[in-house]
Amino acid sequence: MKWRWIPAFAGMTAAVSGGAVEVALDVGHYAAEPGVISAGGVPEFEFNLALASEVKAELEKLQLNVRLIGERGDYAVLHHRTRDARGADLFVSIHHDSVQERLLPQAERFAGFSLFISRQNPRLAQSLACASAIGAKLRGAGFTPSRYHADPALGESRPFADEANGVHYYDHLAVARSAAMASVLVEAGVIVNREEEQRMRDPGVRRRIAAAVAAGARECLVKEP
Ligand SMILES: [Zn+2]
Repeated sequence: MKWRWIPAFAGMTAAVSGGAVEVALDVGHYAAEPGVISAGGVPEFEFNLALASEVKAELEKLQLNVRLIGERGDYAVLHHRTRDARGADLFVSIHHDSVQERLLPQAERFAGFSLFISRQNPRLAQSLACASAIGAKLRGAGFTPSRYHADPALGESRPFADEANGVHYYDHLAVARSAAMASVLVEAGVIVNREEEQRMRDPGVRRRIAAAVAAGARECLVKEP
């Protein structure tokens, strides 16, 4: 039997039995503005699309429903993504990371994943629970939080919400604050770092990241009896 959070009480520990859980899986950026350009010259959107496709497959293996958003590269308006996610239990936005422009010459110093949630999201406690679960699964699969986003000099002073699991607060993040449901933004790896870009292009690594993200989402959404 499957259990499901009541959205109105998300963040509390109560769970009820119910229908299928659905994850809105957002492919970050779009064709006209494809995000970061990797060390090797590949637009972030391509990395996001490849990883989101794997996450979708892994979520479906775990019996969760998936609504893919932005996979055609035509979502220019950010709040249209969360609007079209309405009814889903969790919004997960897939991205790949960069560093400040002045630090690009030292990009090899930066690696790892980061997770972002917003204190302006109406389901903050569940957003944090999901982000922490995803971070814990990624660590369990051998990945490491990048941590630099919390640093005032190397990052943007984004405070830790869960330091061990690489979760930061990013309150004005559009896809987190405009979502009606819990929302987590995943920066899978730092693709301006040439070595990390190679890892992110490895299908085996991508599958392990996808499996960890899916397992974390399931853990925070589905309560076993
Ligand atoms: Zn991005």
